[in-house]
Amino acid sequence: IHSLQSMDPEIAQVLRDEEHRQRSKLELIASENFVSDAVRIAQGSVLTNKYAEGYPGRRYYGGCEFVDVAERLAQERACRLFGAEYANVQPHSGSQANMAVYFALLEPGDTIMGMDLRQGGHLTHGSPVSFSGRLFKVVSYGVKPDTETIDFDGLARLAREHRPRLIVAGASAYPRVIDFARFREICDEVGAYLMVDMAHIAGLISAGLHPNPVPHAHVVTSTTHKTLRGPRGGLILAGAELGRKLDSQIFPGIQGGPLMHVIAAKAVAFQEAMQPCFKEYQRRIVQNARTLAEALLSHGYRLVSGGTDNHMMLVDLRNKGLTGKQAEEALDKAGITVNKNSIPFDPQTPHVTSGIRIGTAAVTTRGMEPSHMVEIARFIHQALSAVDDSQRLAVLKADVAAFCESFPLHDPGTRAHALSAQG
Ligand code: PLP
Repeated sequence: IHSLQSMDPEIAQVLRDEEHRQRSKLELIASENFVSDAVRIAQGSVLTNKYAEGYPGRRYYGGCEFVDVAERLAQERACRLFGAEYANVQPHSGSQANMAVYFALLEPGDTIMGMDLRQGGHLTHGSPVSFSGRLFKVVSYGVKPDTETIDFDGLARLAREHRPRLIVAGASAYPRVIDFARFREICDEVGAYLMVDMAHIAGLISAGLHPNPVPHAHVVTSTTHKTLRGPRGGLILAGAELGRKLDSQIFPGIQGGPLMHVIAAKAVAFQEAMQPCFKEYQRRIVQNARTLAEALLSHGYRLVSGGTDNHMMLVDLRNKGLTGKQAEEALDKAGITVNKNSIPFDPQTPHVTSGIRIGTAAVTTRGMEPSHMVEIARFIHQALSAVDDSQRLAVLKADVAAFCESFPLHDPGTRAHALSAQG
């Protein structure tokens, strides 16, 4: 930080301010986490200086003997962690991973099916504002109005009618277990590829807390930075037979030089995810989510589908007379960070919404436990009961900051060692 401070004090200040924000606020965005020092060291390393177009052993640049080791380790560890035959660790992001799969398996104009963005899907699953919706014909599926769980009968009907080339399973805002075997049955019936985007739940899957899509899907994509707690980036897993096709769509298809520093950090994160304490961490995420969900229900909030099986929940704010936008802003003033989120069949626009999405991956990394989730629910309830009372929200912000102080932003690796030393 000293050399940055003298070269660029403005950016040095941004780093300090952001670190302070992360320390003093409650991070409940379901897609965020705090990485270990080991991951950050790899990501901030000299590997950022290296060009390495191509793949290990077949590069277009000299001097790749050490980055080859890093990429091979990342590939092998990803395969071992999820039981896959093939891994591509080069996608710069989850969106690039999805793009490469579509380009490998489809032609522009082909039909794909994905979960509606407004019912939990991701932009890259066919939204008209994303490349996926612009290049392919999209048929969206959704959830049942009564249970708010995936409407498999509706999905099967649409698949028979539209005969898609590929169906995407996976979501950005879905709190329940996803039945990948049922997806595969429907794909087999209509002759479609099954792509599972496990970005949100990859950590849970690695720990055996959610069914693994690898045995069911033709291709699995992911981000590495959500519950999996690695650097920001993407990942593709598949059977060996699709490897060459997928490799060539990442490079040279849609990307140039791989980010070797990020790939090394992915290798570190996969190594961390294979440790027993990581499984324990994932168990706590799920336990914390259940407890937070129950506590919110007890304060009179309605949760989409009634609760959660994973690391996230969607709160329907309509019975409280609030929109997602109002809630996000009030919570932010109280030092609690969430995002507004559409709920299924939302009457509000995507900029306003009727809901908020809450996740427990980041607060669990900070060492918070179920009893703390009860306190967090109380903070949330107090803030949402005082959305127009700036003074009350400012007092709450100080309370939240004091609460956060009891959970220093330790390196999660160090905490894991301390926990296992305690038994
Ligand atoms: N897929 C899902 C299910 C996601 O939730 C996200 C991120 O929010 C992505 C893909 C895209 O990842 P990225 O932001 O790295 O492009």
